[in-house]
Amino acid sequence: MSVAYDLAPDRRPETAADNFLRKQQQLLIDGRRVASSSGRTFRSINPATEEVIATIAEGDERDVDLAVAAARRTFEGPWRSMRAAERGQILLKWAELLKQHADEIAEIESLDAGKPIAAVLRQDLPAAIDTLIYYAGWADKISGDVVSTRSDALTYTVREPVGVVAAIVPWNFPLMIGMWKLAPALACGCTVVMKPAELTSLSALRIGQLALEAGLPPGVLNIVPGPGRVVGDALVNHPDVDKVTFTGSPGVGRGIMKGAAGNFKRVSLELGGKSANVIFDDANLDAATKAAAAGIFFNAGQVCSAGSRVLVQEKVYDEVVDRLVARAKSLRIGDPLDRATSLGPVISEKQMRSILDYVEVGQKEGASLVTGGERVGKQGYFISPAVFANVKHEMRISQEEIFGPVVSVIKFKDEADALQKANGTAYSLAAGVWSRDMGRVQRFASRARAGTVWINTYGYTDVRLPWGGERDSGLGREHGTAAIDNFTEPKAVWMNLNV
Ligand code: NAD
Repeated sequence: MSVAYDLAPDRRPETAADNFLRKQQQLLIDGRRVASSSGRTFRSINPATEEVIATIAEGDERDVDLAVAAARRTFEGPWRSMRAAERGQILLKWAELLKQHADEIAEIESLDAGKPIAAVLRQDLPAAIDTLIYYAGWADKISGDVVSTRSDALTYTVREPVGVVAAIVPWNFPLMIGMWKLAPALACGCTVVMKPAELTSLSALRIGQLALEAGLPPGVLNIVPGPGRVVGDALVNHPDVDKVTFTGSPGVGRGIMKGAAGNFKRVSLELGGKSANVIFDDANLDAATKAAAAGIFFNAGQVCSAGSRVLVQEKVYDEVVDRLVARAKSLRIGDPLDRATSLGPVISEKQMRSILDYVEVGQKEGASLVTGGERVGKQGYFISPAVFANVKHEMRISQEEIFGPVVSVIKFKDEADALQKANGTAYSLAAGVWSRDMGRVQRFASRARAGTVWINTYGYTDVRLPWGGERDSGLGREHGTAAIDNFTEPKAVWMNLNV
């Protein structure tokens, strides 16, 4: 592992991102940038330097009321009456603007979330743009059916937008996960009040401005940054919000289901994971360990589908541990703005402490920490990538989501043992399996309790395929046609042909 962090922000040439960050960041309500009702602000910190990078207006219940009222007005007015094709054109224009401002947006995201900029430019931003273009294409293709019922009636269905959507977004992929919610909601004709995570509100505010430039009518997209328990809670409990789409932790997800019951809001939840990446002894170990390392260390392990449990068949266990350790040591930790950096900091001091606590828990439980698991440097929330060997399935580091660059390597005997362990947590988001035996991988794929199964690969997502899980991993699916169903309701229409 090489550490190449050089704190020299003043030597960076002035960029468009600097220009954006210098301004006081306001709420976006009804097409206008406004101060919060309370006048309060909060600060966003660069996790790589611990420096304040922006000041942001802090919303509360009153701002949520204003944003929901604007969203409702626009939903009933211009957005609903606009031709669907025109809605799609606006979304396409927005995608064009995101491309034009790619460097600026990527820099904002990198500074705010501590993400290596190379990864934002290669993954987060292209995925967000792809999502937007994909759903822009859907806008004028959402249709119903003519259904045969009686000979004296014409009966058909239409799919109508659900109305005002609250989109609550986490800090690990602010742009990409934000767009997973915005693009289908808007394509379906809904209006949105978005609450970014308080740790990472900035990219949302920037792309919100670009949405207005693209021609999105005022009030269609409103953005209210602020604390989850204030702004998030107010949205979830608001009687005029029709749907909540949430990505975050299972604990908050549970509260959202309860809060949404007030007016029976539709709810979709993408929650946590403790995904197993299962390596059989006949696998291509080079490819498997390369993907297993990327599967846990990408985004410093702050990925809901991180392969945080690597399950390895006895015969190749030691070799896989050695290879994972070598991969961990080869990662370049450093300044996220340096394009050579592969591992940035974790998001916050709180998150860093929680991850380091888990490293201690793992050692106390008797697992062997083979490499990493320490804070790197004194400034910024950097943690060296950790590999735990001799992890027992029952240990906390094997059962609980750590959400950091920490992998638990667990031994298994045979197919049945692998499946039992892979399925043996409260989560069910994703799983990977590596073997040259095609019967075995198919058996695993069909029995794995997971919303996504990767065979001889790991970690891919595509907006064209459903995404989500059950139990502590969530409720419902995002992406593809599932998202169209999430943001529309079917209506049955009867027309008497004999009058
Ligand atoms: P979090 O649950 O703390 O916060 C998520 C969002 O919910 C934030 O915007 C937060 O402000 C808001 N929030 C907090 N309290 C709230 C409340 N009482 N009412 C309404 N909103 C509230 O999660 P996080 O720490 O930001 O993200 C990490 C978690 O998200 C992990 O568990 C991870 O697995 C999960 N995650 C899941 C996916 C997925 O697709 N399944 C993707 C990314 C992250």
